[in-house]
Formats: sequence, C-alpha cells, structure tokens
Amino acid sequence: MNDTSEHSERPAEPLDFIRQIIASDIASNKHGGKVVTRFPPEPNGYLHVGHAKSICLNFGVAAETGGQTYLRFDDTNPTRESEEYVRAIMTDVRWLGFDWEQRLTHASDYFEQLYDAAVTLIKKGRAYVDSLNADEIRAYRGSLTESGKDSPYRERTAEENLALFADMRAGKYKDGELVLRAKIDMASPNMNMRDPTLYRIRHVAHQRTGDDWCLYPMYDFAHGLSDAFEGITHSLCTLEFEDHRPLYDWLLEQVDTDDRPQQIEFSRLNLAYTITSKRKLKQLVDDGVVNGWDDPRMPTIAAMRRRGYPPAALREFCRRIGITKKDNLIEMGVLESSVRDLLNEQAPRRMVVLDPLKVVITNYPDDESEDMEASNHPQNESMGARTLPFGRTLYIERDDFMEDAPRKFFRLKPGGAVRLRYAYVIDCVDVIKDAAGNVTELHCTYDKDTRSGSGTSQRKVKGTIHWVSAAHAIAATVNLYDRLFTEAEPARSEDLSTVLNPDSLRVVCAVTEPSLQAAEVGAPYQFERLGYFTADQDSTAERPVFNRIVTLRDSWAKIEKMAVEKVNA
Ligand code: ATP
Ligand code: MG
Repeated sequence: MNDTSEHSERPAEPLDFIRQIIASDIASNKHGGKVVTRFPPEPNGYLHVGHAKSICLNFGVAAETGGQTYLRFDDTNPTRESEEYVRAIMTDVRWLGFDWEQRLTHASDYFEQLYDAAVTLIKKGRAYVDSLNADEIRAYRGSLTESGKDSPYRERTAEENLALFADMRAGKYKDGELVLRAKIDMASPNMNMRDPTLYRIRHVAHQRTGDDWCLYPMYDFAHGLSDAFEGITHSLCTLEFEDHRPLYDWLLEQVDTDDRPQQIEFSRLNLAYTITSKRKLKQLVDDGVVNGWDDPRMPTIAAMRRRGYPPAALREFCRRIGITKKDNLIEMGVLESSVRDLLNEQAPRRMVVLDPLKVVITNYPDDESEDMEASNHPQNESMGARTLPFGRTLYIERDDFMEDAPRKFFRLKPGGAVRLRYAYVIDCVDVIKDAAGNVTELHCTYDKDTRSGSGTSQRKVKGTIHWVSAAHAIAATVNLYDRLFTEAEPARSEDLSTVLNPDSLRVVCAVTEPSLQAAEVGAPYQFERLGYFTADQDSTAERPVFNRIVTLRDSWAKIEKMAVEKVNA
C-alpha cells in the first residue's frame, strides 16, 4: 500500500468487530494464521463511495495483518458488463492507494472449474436440471409465509442431469429453456435455500471468454466457489448477503473440503443526499443529468478524484465511519470534513475573486506595480511564499462592498477602510454607478505607510479582504458544486428527477492571481476565504478551469444533522 504512513502514527484504537474476529482467528491459528481477503466488484458501472468503504476494509485488514487481497471481477453477467468499467475500477482501486499485486482475477477465470463443480454436485445428487420456465419456478418457490413445491423435474437421475447439462453447455437449448438448480429444500424458511438456480443459459458473448460459453453461473454459486478456489479466509460483504450465508456455506460444504472461507457481513455505507447504487448512477449518466461518471457532483471515486478529493481523505473518511453491523445514514458532512481537514494542512493558499468588482486606487501611479510577498500557508512556513503583483486597478469580491452597510459590516463601505491582504489599507472615497444604479467600480486611496510587513503606520482596521491585480489577473472558469439532490434519501424517490438540486452546479467567471496559471490538474489550493479548489482536466493554456472541492465551512451542518437524525432514529 502506498502513502499511508500517517495511519501508523495514529494512537491505537479499539478494533471493529471484523478486525476482532480476524485477530482471534490469527491467534487461534485458524487458516494457518493466514488472512486472505478479496474485493469482488461487478464491472457494470464505476465504483462509488460505498465501494471505497469495502476496498478500505478488505485491503486494509490484509495490509494490517500481513495478509493478501485479491481484486476479483465478478463478471458472471455478460449483458451488463464492459471493459471500460474493468479499467475504471482498476484505476480507482490504485488511486485509493491499494495494490493487488499479481492477484487480479475474474470469476470467468474459473468458468471451467465452476462447471466441474456443478458436475460434482449433479453426481452427488445435489443439483438437477429443471425444465420449468422462469414464471413457473417463481410460482413453485412459494413465499415467505408459504412453503415452496418440488419441481416435477427434481427427481431426474444423475445420468439424465449430466446429459442435459452437457447439452446446455453445447448450446442445444435456448435462453431460459433449462436451468441448473441446487437440490436443497423447497420448504426452507430461507428463500435462498429453496433450490436456488446455479446456472442459466444466455446466448451472449462475454467480454473475456467470447463465445466459449452460452451458460453462465449465478452470482452465489460463482462467488462462494471463487472464494474457495483463491483460498480466501474472510469473505467480507454487506448485510444484504446475510440471508445468503447458509447457501454460501452449503455450497462450500458440497464442493470444497478443508479450510473453508468465512463470510462476515457489515453494514453498507449510505451517505445522505446521495445515492450509492451503480444502477441508479448509470441512469443519471444515461439520462444526461450529469456529464458522465466522473462529473464532480457524482459520488463515484472517479468523480471525487476529478473534483480534487485526496485519496487519503477518502481513507480517513472510511476510518471515521468505521465498520459495524448496524445500517445507518452517514452525514455528507463527515466526508467533507475529512477532505477539509486534510486540505487545510496540505493546500497552498491563493487569492481568487469569484465575483469581481473593480477598484481603482486613485493615488497609486498608473504605470507602476510592486510585488507583495504572500506566504503559501499561514501555519506552515516550509511551504514557502510567492509574490503577488499589486497595481492601481484591482478586483475585490462584490459582496465585500456594501453601500448601505450596517454598523458591524467591517469590509468595504463608502467612507470606510479595509486591509487588502498582504498589501495596504485602503479607504473608499467614491462609488461609481451605471445608468441603472448598479455599482460598477469603487475609487479608493491607499495608505502608503500600511504596507504589510514593512509599513510604519500603527493604523488598525477591523476587516481584511482578498483581491487580485487587474493588470496581472488571469480569467478563469470556476465550477461551484453543491449537492446533487435535495432529499436526504434520494433513492427513496421513484423518480430521481424530482429530487435533483437545480443549483448543484454554478459556473462563474473569476479572476485569479498569476501564479495559478501554472496550477497542476488535481493539485489542491485554498482560495482564501472561499474554499478548496483544484484545476480541472478541461483547463487549457488560454483558460484555466477550477472545481470547488469543498467549502471552507460546512454550511449544511444544521439541516443535514436534523435530516439524518430523523432517518437514523
Ligand atoms: P451496486 O448496487 O452499487 O451495484 P453492488 O453491491 O452490486 O453495488 P458490487 O460491484 O457487487 O456492487 O460490489 C462490490 C463489493 O462492494 C461488494 O462486496 C459489496 O458488498 C461492496 N459494496 C457495494 N456497495 C457498498 C456500500 N454502499 N457500502 C459498502 N460496501 C459496498
Ligand atoms: Mg452486486
């Protein structure tokens, strides 16, 4: 694992319940003291923040215990899967800071072995070929209150089943005509044990095995057996698989003998004001609600990377939320404060004006400018300093000026004074307006003796604002992101389009200090008083584009806390 040294410096914390189980398994020498985990994504979409939780857990526990982790693509459903998703998933896991080394596998690597396992089950009388169609199978399955009924084909002999199964493989049957089912118990209170389907016919090409197969294993069958084939010791998954565990164990009992993997479930991450379902995220992309999977408003790992979240902040978020068995909704504020806390330490400061108002310093010579020294980080001198050109015409933030200001408004007002950060105190002398009465510029004078760092004046003013010299400013596009949804649990809405936040993206034309011309895509900056930003990949030499990563403070805290408490109550 890369760049995670900060983890080792943290004081020891109590272990979560999964880490406790693993620690005691190591202590008792279960699995020969080994720890082998896997992260098993289905390549049917991009990974999201929920997957980050699973990745941090699976790779994290293995790294902490000297174990190993497989990245295994669960590619058993060729109709929904693609190479684009496979590549994106690999990029995302690496970016998060994890390394599967040579342990990259696919469920499809085991298609032959899985087929053999199915044959073994048939020979043992533990699986049969069923000729019921999908509707009939559903009807025969019964319900939670009603026991199921045996299929009339359930007692086919092993020979008959073997022949039919071979013919299924040979392509002699159409989609849905036959299925292979486990022979367990149609009266089981657990629906997953009522003779679950193990194989179905699908005459579609697979992205890796091409036309080799026309029958594909079901997830439960492929997953548990792949775990066994790889020698997984702890198969960590989300709570919705709890009811599948008896089937998981049953399959391993039939096929694998010694040293079986143990499935342990934990609660999935539900994040307020967002959705964590690849299917629904895909819908947003397909409907053009967002500009692709990596639109910075998306909760995908690709989007968070583009938006400028540092991978360490995501890992820190996963550490803060922890691993439990209880389902709950996590405030977006927890994610954002993990990002903010890290960026506060790491991001160099810059001056940018998002909504420019022109200021002319009437007593400053027209053709002159001077360099002001500005530190890159107020608490960290080792980050150095840069120079800021100062001149006669400047831009300040429009809302740092108020014409009819209340007494406690300490920024600029007619007749008032303010300090320009790293420069001088200025006095507002005149307000210039257009015919419609809009303020178009301010005329100010500067107080020569108040130069930051070297001024001789003792003059004190209450407010300090940021600014950019007009002659040196760079025009930039800035994307201001807000939450994509207006509801704490958008997934509850039938129609996502009814809960979209119309203001989730605001694009503004800003002016930046000259040093940002060289801003590296992905590198974070704090724009003073405004938030954390990074250059977007759409930046050009002519026009940089910046994304707001996160605001300086959590402006949502109150609303969100209330909404989340209500859901979790
Ligand atoms: P989705 O519904 O978004 O497609 P999934 O569970 O079908 O999610 P997989 O690709 O099968 O997606 O997931 C890979 C692994 O990530 C699984 O082990 C799954 O349990 C885990 N995972 C998926 N979503 C979450 C989540 N919200 N929180 C924690 N783990 C998750
Ligand atoms: Mg899945």
